[in-house]
Amino acid sequence: MKHLIIGNGIAGINAARAIREMDTSAAIFMVSDETFPPYSRPMISYVLEGSEPHEKLPLFAGNIYEDLDITPVLGHRVAHLDVKKKFVHLENGTDIDFQKLLIASGADARHIRVPGAELGNIFTMRTQKDVLDHLAAISLGIKNALVLGGGLVGFKAAHALLKRGIKVTMLITSAYPLAMQVDPTAGRMILKELQARGLSVKVGVSVSSFDGETRVKKACLDSGETLDCDLVIVGKGVDPSLGFIAENDIEIDYGILVDPYLCSSVSDIYAAGDAAESMDIARQKRWINAIWPEAAIQGRIAGYNMAGRKVACPGSLGRNVMRIFGLDVMTVGLANPDGADDLEIIQAGGEKAGVYRSLVFCRDILVGAVLVNQIEQGGILRAMIENRIPVRIPKAYLMSLHFDYSKLL
Ligand SMILES: Cc1cc2nc3c(=O)[nH]c(=O)nc-3n(C[C@H](O)[C@H](O)[C@H](O)COP(=O)(O)OP(=O)(O)OC[C@H]3O[C@@H](n4cnc5c(N)ncnc54)[C@H](O)[C@@H]3O)c2cc1C
Repeated sequence: MKHLIIGNGIAGINAARAIREMDTSAAIFMVSDETFPPYSRPMISYVLEGSEPHEKLPLFAGNIYEDLDITPVLGHRVAHLDVKKKFVHLENGTDIDFQKLLIASGADARHIRVPGAELGNIFTMRTQKDVLDHLAAISLGIKNALVLGGGLVGFKAAHALLKRGIKVTMLITSAYPLAMQVDPTAGRMILKELQARGLSVKVGVSVSSFDGETRVKKACLDSGETLDCDLVIVGKGVDPSLGFIAENDIEIDYGILVDPYLCSSVSDIYAAGDAAESMDIARQKRWINAIWPEAAIQGRIAGYNMAGRKVACPGSLGRNVMRIFGLDVMTVGLANPDGADDLEIIQAGGEKAGVYRSLVFCRDILVGAVLVNQIEQGGILRAMIENRIPVRIPKAYLMSLHFDYSKLL
């Protein structure tokens, strides 16, 4: 059997490990445009802040390709996938055929498209190479950094630059940071905390252009304001990296739609990780939860299925635990619903209390939670969401910090 895996991230490498576990003689080819060995992508921000060295990023000691007998094809991007003839065409002109394919191509950082965006020192933050570029720029002396976007990546970039003693301004289009993860009350608590710790945060604004000669010197905002900046990190979200798939060849919504076995609409072609849209437990529909643990488990499950062992994916669940200076923040599932669904939300605490809890229910099933500080009960709340355990007691009991949640399990 010849397996081809696109992407050497956590989903790709875990699939290769599962295939090799099941089949010692299968041929495994792995293509990636990154040449660095499989590494911890979430850790790149620690390298930026200086708390971990770059050498600590690789996930495995030694040569994982040799250890798993994988043929690596690195530094090359897949330009086109031929689903009928079962081969991929690389940008360097070569073709690789396959019997089973895993698309674990993850996501690409969104770039900002405004005049001046091509100036030097304007970066994204997705790869270890991006962070090496940031560090090279910082080594030349940076006074004012601008971080665009208040999501997880923007937040991590801002935190890292602040730790390096650089003055940072964060520009957020929405009304508060981490708007994809938390509700407005938690968002306001986070905003206050960031400001109290020295981060300048401007909400409801965007950059309309950058100025400079070769390197960026100023950002002009749509509010009319101009900000001095000599480094910009763009954290405006990601898009699944699927440009090599022709329209209608595979069913794609935002990511590749997969069944419980992580197979796409085309037999023998699987998808996992940030590129795949699998069943979301909280939403009860297919969704991309672009987080490391989901990519890791999906890669493994896809690998088993490719190797012939039928393993169903239990469904994915978005979740995050973050330490934001003095705040512990935990979010699970449908934490910030948009109001379209038939949901009940109960909340306790808030900005004054310094502790906050919001629980989101779909009838008697808990589907989302946001906790700010005192997050110790979060693990049980997550288990309730994951296992869709009906709540048969008054929901208000669940807001008590002293409630024994284990009684519900
Ligand atoms: C700065 C940062 C911080 C993060 N922090 C957290 C965190 O705290 N917690 C958490 O759970 N998650 C976090 N994440 C998200 C997490 O890293 C991702 O969900 C995870 O890495 C996805 O893994 P993946 O294998 O699906 O894709 P990726 O890790 O993106 O790997 C895909 C690989 O495929 C390659 N590729 C793409 N297209 C092609 C092509 N056409 N041809 C060849 N190769 C291609 C890519 O270059 C890449 O090497 C963070 C991400 C970033 C960027």
